[in-house]
Amino acid sequence: MSIETACLAEIADVTLRERPLIVSDVDEVVFEFISPFSAFLAANGCRLLPRSFRLHGNIVSETDGAEIEAQRVTDLIDTFFGDQNRWQTPACDAVETLHALSADHDIVFLTAMKPHHKALRRAALDSFGLHFPMIATEGPKGLAVRELHRGRSLPVIFIDDIDRNLQSVGEEVPSCLLIRMIANADFRSLAAPPAVGVETVIGWRDLAARIQSHCTENRG
Ligand SMILES: [Mg+2]
Repeated sequence: MSIETACLAEIADVTLRERPLIVSDVDEVVFEFISPFSAFLAANGCRLLPRSFRLHGNIVSETDGAEIEAQRVTDLIDTFFGDQNRWQTPACDAVETLHALSADHDIVFLTAMKPHHKALRRAALDSFGLHFPMIATEGPKGLAVRELHRGRSLPVIFIDDIDRNLQSVGEEVPSCLLIRMIANADFRSLAAPPAVGVETVIGWRDLAARIQSHCTENRG
């Protein structure tokens, strides 16, 4: 697979300084996703059951408990993101921790937002004072991080809630510190152990401490 042209253009617009780079996913990392999506589902007569760390297969009708079919789940997710600024708020400690980290790290958001919702995602981040650059891709996140970092010798850190994305970055940028962050405590406890080489944290304060120690150990 390759990177979308629009994504390459967004990467080209990012100016990195000579300091460590933090690349962070948005949903369930910087913004709460599971909690507001559950509230959105309730408003639409559905319920997300915390049976496993996935959406499809775990959403049922409030009226009869029947599982919602896959296409309807996909449509609900798209409708939610089309109204995300009404539902989503930052994860606990995310805003203040990102601002503190930005004093000596570059921060870039890497989100899987579909093109028709990108402007709304940008506006939602801005509304909470999170004006850091944002890149959107529906392709492998590893390709985007590799293109962004370009093999520099400076520390690079990637944060995401999805193992597939963490593994993608691990394959493309072997020097990258990989951290799995799942904001929702119920779903965090359901996630399978992370892949080898992926670390887990329980919140943004824990995450910041791990990033600081990694950068101290790897100071060039
Ligand atoms: Mg996510």
